Amino acid sequence: MKIDILTLFPEMCETVLSESIIGRARKAQKVELACHNIRDFANNKHNKVDDMPYGGGMGMVMAAEPIYNCYKSLYSEGEPKPHLIYLSPKGTTLTQKKVVELSKLDHIVLLCGHYEGVDERVLEEIVDEQISLGDFVLTGGELPALCLADAVCRMLPGVLSDDLCFEDESHFSGLLEYPQYTRPAVWNGREVPEVLLSGNHAEIAKWRRKQSLEITRELRPEMFEKVELDKLDRKLLGLEPDKKRKGKNVE
Ligand code: SAM
Repeated sequence: MKIDILTLFPEMCETVLSESIIGRARKAQKVELACHNIRDFANNKHNKVDDMPYGGGMGMVMAAEPIYNCYKSLYSEGEPKPHLIYLSPKGTTLTQKKVVELSKLDHIVLLCGHYEGVDERVLEEIVDEQISLGDFVLTGGELPALCLADAVCRMLPGVLSDDLCFEDESHFSGLLEYPQYTRPAVWNGREVPEVLLSGNHAEIAKWRRKQSLEITRELRPEMFEKVELDKLDRKLLGLEPDKKRKGKNVE
């Protein structure tokens, strides 16, 4: 998979994407990631990429032409058009489901706005979808683009040591993850749950499932509503099989 980031601050993105798991995945060519400076496509004397908003008002607006030129430089005529995402507080909020969907595409381009945002006409011309990190406003699209790129990359084959690493994790299958512990077995007088030290893998799996269900029910009741509980789940939660409850019964 290829991910291109269009930004006015490529060093900011490059630094983050060169570290840790994503940095290693790039070196191992599990993913191709590149950061492009929109300013390099300004084609004017002072490399100007923004201007005052028509109609007046505060701040500057990123001009259409440098963004358009930068995007067009990423693929040749006749090649499939990459999927372009504009990171924007007006977009659809990013979810794990969306991340999995995006990880199946061959080529995505992430456009980072800055200042007051981007000239609407270039958005109309090239953007396939707008994605938000949440209902708050940041100074630029770089942090959301990095979050999206990170989340997508870890779904790609070979990026994590084992696919099970993400299958058990929060949100992948509609549940929050169980608590995790590491050595020492007692820290500050707090003990690791005994079952995790038992070596009994069936019991550990049951304990983890129960914890996931309970934590989701407590912290995210709206998520829990959608969980399809099976017979074992209901037993783990101490629910009677025929008892009326909120989650769907799939027996
Ligand atoms: N004037 C815009 C508005 O009110 O919708 C906000 C512009 S914001 C200060 C500058 C840039 O940051 C945006 O163009 C966008 O790329 C990015 N940005 C800010 N908040 C974001 C969010 N919650 N999710 C994704 N991108 C965001």
